[in-house]
Amino acid sequence: MHGHLNILTFDIEDWYHINYPQLDFKAFDCKEDHSSLFSAVKKILSILKERKTKATFFILGRIAEKKPEMVLSIAEDGHEIALHGYEHYLLKDIGEERFKRETERCIKIFDGITGKTPKGFRAPSWSAAQWLFSVLKKMGLEYDASIFPVKTPLYGIPDAPRQPFFVEDGLLEIPTSVFRLAGKNIAFSGGVYFKIFPQLIIKRAVNQVKREGLPLIFFFHPWDLWDRPGKLPGFKTRFMFNLKLGDVEKRFVKLIDTLPMNSIASVLEDLKKGVEVKEVSF
Ligand SMILES: [Zn+2]
Repeated sequence: MHGHLNILTFDIEDWYHINYPQLDFKAFDCKEDHSSLFSAVKKILSILKERKTKATFFILGRIAEKKPEMVLSIAEDGHEIALHGYEHYLLKDIGEERFKRETERCIKIFDGITGKTPKGFRAPSWSAAQWLFSVLKKMGLEYDASIFPVKTPLYGIPDAPRQPFFVEDGLLEIPTSVFRLAGKNIAFSGGVYFKIFPQLIIKRAVNQVKREGLPLIFFFHPWDLWDRPGKLPGFKTRFMFNLKLGDVEKRFVKLIDTLPMNSIASVLEDLKKGVEVKEVSF
């Protein structure tokens, strides 16, 4: 049972790295130096430092190449650095071979900056593919966090287990937290869900997950806490990403004041205890 484990994760990408077909990352990326992203990361680091909280940061390889000092400042504060892909493409769009090449490249980039080999991976937009786990295992990674047991138009494996499980011999899968409502899995623990759900729903979800003895896995992006510095294309996209309830930064701070959080690496051995091997259907 893992009901005492609360895990905080961040996906470090820039404001235009959302997987919408109408958005071409490259058009933005050539003129982006990620300095506003770094300012947001600095604010996150200072919030965490004040509260002696450690987190896992899944960082894009391309951003790490351009902003190694950002990666270093995260690592120097004692947080875990993990992989989030080289750019931010869905795994099905880049395929197994390109994924392997890019992941090897990312491991080298982070190794070169921090002197440490990352242990974990989260796919951009939770775009897990059937081949992913054996590739990660062969590369020596210890865990994956690419499964979100919900149904959305972009991602999710709604019938995946809600608790950590082994997908390959020794490779631990750590699914993002969901709670059960009216027979369905509902997301709540970060991103747009945390921004739009009232405090009461979040509290209810947290309590339910804890009662079930499951770990809590939270996920945030810098642009969940503060407004995106750039303008997303399309009214619907802008509407969805601008939606929020109250001051998200304040609500985030309250959350980590209420629940003591850890990085994945610091509780990985605990997470592996008593966990079974399970198949996931895609
Ligand atoms: Zn992402």
